[in-house]
Amino acid sequence: MTRNLRITSRRRRPLICLYSFAFLFCLLPFLAPLWLQFTLIYAHTFTRHSTLNHSAKSREISMKKTTKIGIIICDRYRTCAGGKCLRALRNKEGAFSMYTDTDLELVGYTTCAGCPGGNIEYTGEEMVKNGADVIHLATGMLVGYPPCPHIQTFKDFITMRYGVQVVVGTHPIPQKYLDLHTGLGTWSNPSWAPLIEQAMSDEQTRKAYD
Ligand code: SF4
Repeated sequence: MTRNLRITSRRRRPLICLYSFAFLFCLLPFLAPLWLQFTLIYAHTFTRHSTLNHSAKSREISMKKTTKIGIIICDRYRTCAGGKCLRALRNKEGAFSMYTDTDLELVGYTTCAGCPGGNIEYTGEEMVKNGADVIHLATGMLVGYPPCPHIQTFKDFITMRYGVQVVVGTHPIPQKYLDLHTGLGTWSNPSWAPLIEQAMSDEQTRKAYD
């Protein structure tokens, strides 16, 4: 009796599978749109999340009421009182002209400590602890002669090590320095273009910083 039942049960298995398959097949027209919708929603969320991650920092900054700034200057100008940098920060000129819809607050100001820039390794930490959203490498690193050969390294290091945005430039490049460096061909290599662009203002502003 028990054996017969087992045999009957075994014979029914293919039938049950067939019914299950047919049942699922009938549901396919209803399940397919749901699956498609789920996939689209997931893809949209994932793409949006990635985009947000990439631009979150800059949007965060532009939405902040006050953006906190740290400035690192070239040690050759260590006795500089910061007149041009602070004026540009106050007037939102030069590299500070990018902050159109936020107030600015200076939370750190120091030098690189001399070639090859030993202070770069540590000073970012203190500035970030003090709330710095953006660290600016001063225009002096660009216009001094010769310009600092480590600017790109400083920028990459601070960005990666402290996860903070780094901008090259503070006050507008004074016109007299632009004339000198153009004559000397200092910035003729295309690699300088992205480094000097933030501090390159219009001629009238540049002359005001001579
Ligand atoms: S040239 Fe560069 S490394 Fe040397 S003192 Fe100036 S900023 Fe520092």
